[in-house]
Amino acid sequence: MRQPLVIGNWKMNGSSESISALLSGVVAGLGESDGAKVAVCPSFVYIPSVIAQLQGEAIEVGAQNVAEQQSGAFTGEISVAMLKDIGCRYVIVGHSERRALFAESDVQVARKFIQVKDAGLLPVLCVGENLAERESGQALAVIEAQLQAVLTEAGAGCFESAVVAYEPIWAIGTGKTATPEQAQEVHKYVRDFIARESKSTADKLQILYGGSVKAANAAELFAQQDIDGALVGGAALSATEFVTICKATN
Ligand code: 13P
Repeated sequence: MRQPLVIGNWKMNGSSESISALLSGVVAGLGESDGAKVAVCPSFVYIPSVIAQLQGEAIEVGAQNVAEQQSGAFTGEISVAMLKDIGCRYVIVGHSERRALFAESDVQVARKFIQVKDAGLLPVLCVGENLAERESGQALAVIEAQLQAVLTEAGAGCFESAVVAYEPIWAIGTGKTATPEQAQEVHKYVRDFIARESKSTADKLQILYGGSVKAANAAELFAQQDIDGALVGGAALSATEFVTICKATN
């Protein structure tokens, strides 16, 4: 019912040469496989060349961040109109690295989410708890607050044509994955939260898991009922790992 979706978040990695080789490997590895929808999110500067290299392929391209403003005197920022102009389809908002290292607040994340929605692109809203919050039994409350902040700012219906990614901070880049059961519990909680507003939106919503997803653990995560795919960091930098993850959704 929900098409699986696997997105590679390349973070601040790569060069013209390495990205070109990575994409060739991914394209060749995926071949004609018709399982998951696949997207990659390069650093801004490489987005145009990635789009050019993927011409004619089914793989889509997204950005890792966007300005909360529409346009104007915001030196160093990149607007959603620019991303749309060059052919992006997805925009990650609220990644935990943005929230923690660049002090993005819930309200800023919500404004970015709104920008992306208004432009007709698909926001990939990241939510997730840190280790202390999980250990003190606060994980679900933290995630609900993050979702509620977006709902409050963006208004009813805002999760129609959006993607949510559950990324427990303690599992990002640590090699520690949430167990399939831990992830499923949160994914179901997210879907139930959205369903309080609209059951049909909740049923359609793609909820991705992120945090040390690799070829070896992807299939057991994807076997869970409410896990619709993955937001992949480190393993997305290896064509063989990434392709295996994409194919594990079948
Ligand atoms: P890793 O897959 O490297 O843990 O990163 C996950 C992530 O943050 C994707 O956005």
